[in-house]
Amino acid sequence: MVLIGIGEAFQYNWEILLNNERYQEIEKEIEGKEEYRWIVPFLQKMSLEQYPDETLERAYETLREVIEGKNYFILSIAMDDLVYRHGLREDRIVTPCGGFRKMQCDHNCSGVISAFDEQSYQIVRSYYNKEISLQELPPEPTCGQCGQKRRFNQLGVSKYAEEGYLPQWQIYTKWLQGTVNKNTCVVELGAGMQFPGIIRWPFEKIVSYNQKSFLYRIHPALYQLGESVGERGTGIKQKPDIFLANGFVK
Ligand SMILES: [Zn+2]
Repeated sequence: MVLIGIGEAFQYNWEILLNNERYQEIEKEIEGKEEYRWIVPFLQKMSLEQYPDETLERAYETLREVIEGKNYFILSIAMDDLVYRHGLREDRIVTPCGGFRKMQCDHNCSGVISAFDEQSYQIVRSYYNKEISLQELPPEPTCGQCGQKRRFNQLGVSKYAEEGYLPQWQIYTKWLQGTVNKNTCVVELGAGMQFPGIIRWPFEKIVSYNQKSFLYRIHPALYQLGESVGERGTGIKQKPDIFLANGFVK
């Protein structure tokens, strides 16, 4: 069995967007205009789709090749949705921090997760492509129930709707129970101290209990292993995307 933890150091390189000329132009145009800030997450989504992070793309390809056909589960705290775009099994992925795939009410007034807002996305794209002006953008989309802002279902909104990932989290914990006393390869890709309670600490615990497990902790700085892991692990000091892009485990 293979357990993969994807952390904050295995994420889309947002410099790609920040260095984009048109995006810089837009940032200037909406500076100080709070009513237009809502378009930024839509531009982020556009960047993810339109301007791939080549190293990370290659890394995901390697990851898929290496774990394909195995009994795996991927826990990712990245919010870039890239884990869903490389032919990996969606029923074996959980992303507890959310991403850009679904929407929610900013205050989560009703616990309802809604579908991605394609219409707003297309309008923001038209603006990005200079087909319409800033003034032609519609007002910020709102929650149909309470009138608050409608936002992406991801950590950082006023009240994060955990309903978006909890059903899959239950499947994950059940899968984890199945690793007890089974040969289990545990791999951490860039999981640092942003949310150590989601990946690092629980993964160490799994390895300290399961005598048939082994941990690969790949991180450019925080590659050290906790004592409880003992001999059943190795820390690899490298950027995980480069490590995988170069071919690794095969
Ligand atoms: Zn609402």
